[in-house]
Amino acid sequence: MRTSTDAVVIGSGPNGLTAAVTLARAGLDVLVLEAQPVAGGGARTLESDQADGLHHDICSAVHPLALASPAFRQFDFAARGVELIAPETSYAQPIDAHQAAIAYRSLERTAAELGADGPAWRNFFDPLVENVDLLTEVALGDRRHLPGGLLNPQGIGALVRAGLRVIEQATPAWNMRFRTDLGPALLTGVAAHAISPLPSPAASGTSVMLATHAHTVGWPIPVGGSGALTASLISDLEAHGGRVVTGAEVRSWKELPRARAYLADTSPAGLLRIWGDRMRPAVRRALERFRYGDAAAKVDYVLSEPVPWADPRVGAAATVHLGGTRAEMAFAEAEVAAGRMPQRPMALFSDPSIADAGRIVGGLRPGWAYAHVPAWYPGDVTEAVTAQIERFAPGFRDVVVSARCTPASQMSEHNANYVGGDIAAGALSTWGLLARPRLAWDPYATSIPGVYLCSQSTPPAPGVHGMSGWHAARRALAQRFSLPVPSLAP
Ligand SMILES: Cc1cc2nc3c(=O)[nH]c(=O)nc-3n(C[C@H](O)[C@H](O)[C@H](O)COP(=O)(O)OP(=O)(O)OC[C@H]3O[C@@H](n4cnc5c(N)ncnc54)[C@H](O)[C@@H]3O)c2cc1C
Repeated sequence: MRTSTDAVVIGSGPNGLTAAVTLARAGLDVLVLEAQPVAGGGARTLESDQADGLHHDICSAVHPLALASPAFRQFDFAARGVELIAPETSYAQPIDAHQAAIAYRSLERTAAELGADGPAWRNFFDPLVENVDLLTEVALGDRRHLPGGLLNPQGIGALVRAGLRVIEQATPAWNMRFRTDLGPALLTGVAAHAISPLPSPAASGTSVMLATHAHTVGWPIPVGGSGALTASLISDLEAHGGRVVTGAEVRSWKELPRARAYLADTSPAGLLRIWGDRMRPAVRRALERFRYGDAAAKVDYVLSEPVPWADPRVGAAATVHLGGTRAEMAFAEAEVAAGRMPQRPMALFSDPSIADAGRIVGGLRPGWAYAHVPAWYPGDVTEAVTAQIERFAPGFRDVVVSARCTPASQMSEHNANYVGGDIAAGALSTWGLLARPRLAWDPYATSIPGVYLCSQSTPPAPGVHGMSGWHAARRALAQRFSLPVPSLAP
């Protein structure tokens, strides 16, 4: 390792790599240190230990935010040969063996198939879809600056309409506009991505944003798996003189080469381990109080056939939300929040081969799934997830060749940021979103000059969008190097 460099990034998740690319493109010498043997953090695609030649996305798999993110739009994965294929069916919500609600790219088609809930769905999403770029800029901003487009009557109107919808879906009046189980369940499956009690403002905001993307950019699957995204970022970093060293866990600032800026793609706990002894006591205490959320337990399947969904429309979806009705999902999430493992947990499933046939090897395909569980839950959830799928796809068990669970309590072994299995690296409560990681004008600052936090534990929020890294790198460029922000375009 060199003894000095311009900037060191600790962690090679999408945020760390976006920060590194931004700094390297500004002409700086950048070194990325990654604890794991493979770079990419929450966007890694690893060879299966269950079937030769098959690959699993061990964390993220479906990427509406990679297409919507202002940073990644500029980076332009497509121009770099990374194909993100958004199926016409964004996500599906089976309700029982005979009924399912489907979100298509087309808002019209979605509304048409929702029956009596169709007009309410169209009315809810029409103004959101119309203003998706502006709303995305707000949602993926640093929560400290308002996009210019907001500062006119049309922008303010769009924000108010979005805000009213978020409030509606965050209150017990959330069923008011719907007449059947379909519309509410279709929204709640997305809200549940927040792994928090339902209804709540954070869950509602999550559903409004991600469901709007379902009707615009879609929910794409990267050809070759999520690792294709991080491989592309690494390739650009290297083309600009930067490098990634894997197997290099940073435990203390004393181990680091001298640099003018350090950006930590770590959890607050990770940041405290490395720099806690040099932080202002008030900042250290605030980060020690940082609340982690409940967890996910992963299940990677090897399947011999497509899942035999009772409703064949479900099989075309990039993601299937397995939780049944709105009431059932709210109950399961409440159980998790109370620290109890639900009998029927909220689970997500994706078969990447519906968009990328190359993922099928020797007739076998990977099945990606995870279930929501209490923080640190040590149990194997394979049976619980399998039972949820079987409920809506009778005969599923017959196509399972093998399955492997990573319990929540072990998630941090392959990514230290997932404390207790919290895949969002911080609870998605209202406070947890507004004061992420603490209440401060600059959420990326750590009180140590030149040291920034740049992971999903900072604004905007979790997801593969690179925006936390971009926001933190912009600050480092201005404050440490007096350099302008470079373009990320190819
Ligand atoms: C099961 C699962 C499913 C998910 N599904 C989706 C999805 O479909 N779509 C989506 O958009 N998002 C999804 N996510 C969330 C997404 O993966 C994260 O929001 C995203 O990866 C966060 O990026 P990041 O750069 O902040 O951190 P991470 O991707 O978590 O990367 C942090 C990196 O830092 C490294 N690191 C930490 N501490 C140190 C240290 N001390 N020294 C050196 N290296 C260190 C870690 O090893 C890791 O590589 C999922 C996550 C999981 C776990």
